Amino acid sequence: MNTTFIQGGLRGDLVDALSTPADLDLWVEEHAEALPRELAERASASATAFHLEEFRRLREALRELSRACTAEEPYDEQAVTVVNRGARLAVNWPELGRPGEPGPVVRWAETDPYLALLGVVAVSGVELLAGPHRHDVRACAAPGCILYFVRAHRRREWCTPGCGNRVRVARHHDRRRT
Ligand SMILES: [Zn+2]
Repeated sequence: MNTTFIQGGLRGDLVDALSTPADLDLWVEEHAEALPRELAERASASATAFHLEEFRRLREALRELSRACTAEEPYDEQAVTVVNRGARLAVNWPELGRPGEPGPVVRWAETDPYLALLGVVAVSGVELLAGPHRHDVRACAAPGCILYFVRAHRRREWCTPGCGNRVRVARHHDRRRT
């Protein structure tokens, strides 16, 4: 969800870090630690325009659902369909390894590693937006910021310390002007 953001504050530019298939490969590489290792390894720099489009669609759906979540509105049916369809791509099960192989071996129903990875992201979206932490999803309160975050403590208002600093600096300038 954070692959699109505003760079440069209130009058900044909208950045889309998922603009090309190579961007998607970079994302997989940068998040490999948080993803099933076997999928991340199989998805080695071969993302296509189709994969990119699917990930972008999931991102838009998750952003819309996060917006509805923070606004305490019901979830949009179309966005729910996109996420649920994605979640089904994450079907996997453990199998015993072959003799001499350390088991268990995880098998994935979806053979395309990018689509299986999309499934993993969709499942984490379901767990967030339908789980107990959904009440902690917040939109960043900094002007010009479009990010969502899960607040770890009650008073957190910003997605990152950077946004918090930006707001404090702006307030300081406002006070000096008045
Ligand atoms: Zn922010």
